[in-house]
Amino acid sequence: MREMEEKNMARRAHCLVLAYPLQGHINPILQFSKLLEHQGSRITLVTYRFYQNNLQRVPPSFAIETISDGFDQGGPIHAESHKAYMDRSTQVGSESLAELLEKLGQSKNHVDCVIYDSFFPWALDVAKSFGIMGAVFLTQNMTVNSIYYHVHLGKLQVPLTEHEFSLPSLPKLQLEDMPSFLLTYVEHPYYLDFFVDQFSNIDKADWVLCNTFYELDKEVANWITKIWPKFRNIGPNIPSMFLDKRHEDDKDYGVAQFESEECIEWLNDKPKGSVVYVSFGSIAMLGGEQMEELAYGLNECSNYFLWVVRASEEIKLPRGFEKKSEKGLIVTWCSQLKVLAHEAIGCFVTHCGWNSTLETLCIGVPTIAIPHWSDQTTNAKLMADVWKIGIRAQTNEKKIVRRETLKQCIRDVMESEEGKVIKSNVIQWKTLALKAIGEGGSSYQNIIEFTNNLFCSQA
Ligand code: UDP
Repeated sequence: MREMEEKNMARRAHCLVLAYPLQGHINPILQFSKLLEHQGSRITLVTYRFYQNNLQRVPPSFAIETISDGFDQGGPIHAESHKAYMDRSTQVGSESLAELLEKLGQSKNHVDCVIYDSFFPWALDVAKSFGIMGAVFLTQNMTVNSIYYHVHLGKLQVPLTEHEFSLPSLPKLQLEDMPSFLLTYVEHPYYLDFFVDQFSNIDKADWVLCNTFYELDKEVANWITKIWPKFRNIGPNIPSMFLDKRHEDDKDYGVAQFESEECIEWLNDKPKGSVVYVSFGSIAMLGGEQMEELAYGLNECSNYFLWVVRASEEIKLPRGFEKKSEKGLIVTWCSQLKVLAHEAIGCFVTHCGWNSTLETLCIGVPTIAIPHWSDQTTNAKLMADVWKIGIRAQTNEKKIVRRETLKQCIRDVMESEEGKVIKSNVIQWKTLALKAIGEGGSSYQNIIEFTNNLFCSQA
C-alpha cells in the first residue's frame, strides 16, 4: 500500500511555489496553485521565514517550507535601507532556496518546476543551476509590466521628460497614468530599480505567467508573445466560489487577517445596490487631510457606506467620527470578495490594486478610482478609459480628492445614465472573465497546456 502511494506521488508533478510576502501577491499565486493541484500537481508553498505565521489560511494539502531573507526576525523593517535589504535578501534568499532544493532532491521529493513571484528574479537562476524548469508569475497587469520592460530595455528613459507616451500595443498614456515609481525616480531610484529588475532575466524563463486574461489585454498579450513565446495569461486567479463555482471546496485562501463577519450582517439588511464599499488595500497609507475628506464625503452622500480602515490608519479618522451607524460601518478588515459579491454593494471606491481591480471586474461591481501609487495609477487609467468600468475621481492641486468630488462621483456611478453604461460594461467584462477561466476558455487552456508540459518534462 505504502509503495503504491509513493508511486502515485511520484507520478504527480511537484511544483515549488515561491510566494512574495505581501497580501496582494500571496492571494493570486495561492489560487493559481490550487488550480494546478486540481490538475494533478503537488504543491510546496515557500515564503520567507519572517512571514510564515501569516500563512495560516493555506490549503491543508499543500506542503509548506520557508527560506531566509537574512532577516528572519522581522523582514525588511530590520534592514538599514531598501537597497541593503535587496542586496542581502537576494544573496541569502538564493543560498537558502538552493539548500531547500538540495534537501528536497535528497529526500526523493524532487522539484519539477519552480514557480516564482516576479519580485524574486534570482529564483530563476537558482532553479536553472539545478536544471529545474522556472516559471515566473507576474502579479501586476500587462500594461504595467510592459512599461517596466521598456525601461529595462532602455526604450523608456527615466527621469521622464515627456507628458504623453505611445508605447507599442498600449493606449496613449499621460504622465499621471504612468506607474508612480517612474515619476519619483530621482527621489527614490531603488523602488523603480526593484520593479524593473523583475525583467532582468525573464528571457530565460521557461514560462511567463500573468494574472490576467487574454480578452482584457489582447493587444499587449499579442505583442509580448512575440517577444516571450512562452507568455501565457492564466487569470483571473480568484476563488471559483465567487466566480463559476467549479470547485465547490475552493475557499477564499490567503493571508490570515482578522475579518469582521459583522459587516456581512450589517450589509444583509441594506437594499440591493445601495452601499458604497471603500477600501485602499493592504499597504496604502493616506494622508490625514485625504482621510478627512473621504470621511465627510461618505457621511454626506446619499448612500450607505462600508469602509475598510486598517488599524494603523484609524488614527487619521476625524475626531469623534462614528465607526458604526445606520448610515455607515468602518471595519479594520473584511473578506473583500464576500463583500463585493454581496447584493447590497452598488459601487467600489478603490485604490486600484491589481487584485482589487480584477475582483471588482469579475464580480461585476462598478468603481470609483482613487489611485495612490505604484501600478494603481495605470490601473485607474485602464479602468476608467479603456475598460470603462468606473470613473477616476479628480484630485485638486494638493493631489487630494475633495468631499464634493467624491459625492459627485458616487452620484454619477450610482444614479446617472453614465452609471448605467458603466454597470453594463462591467457585466460584459465579468462574462468574458468567467469565459476565460471556464472550461475551454483562454486562461483555462493555458493552464492545461502548462500542466501537460509539467507532466511531459517529468516523464
Ligand atoms: N483585501 C481583503 N480585505 C480587505 C482589503 C483587501 O480581503 O479588507 C484583499 C483584496 O481582496 C485583495 C488584496 O487584499 O485580494 C489586496 O490586493 P490589491 O492588489 O488590491 O492591493 P494591495 O494591498 O496589494 O495594495
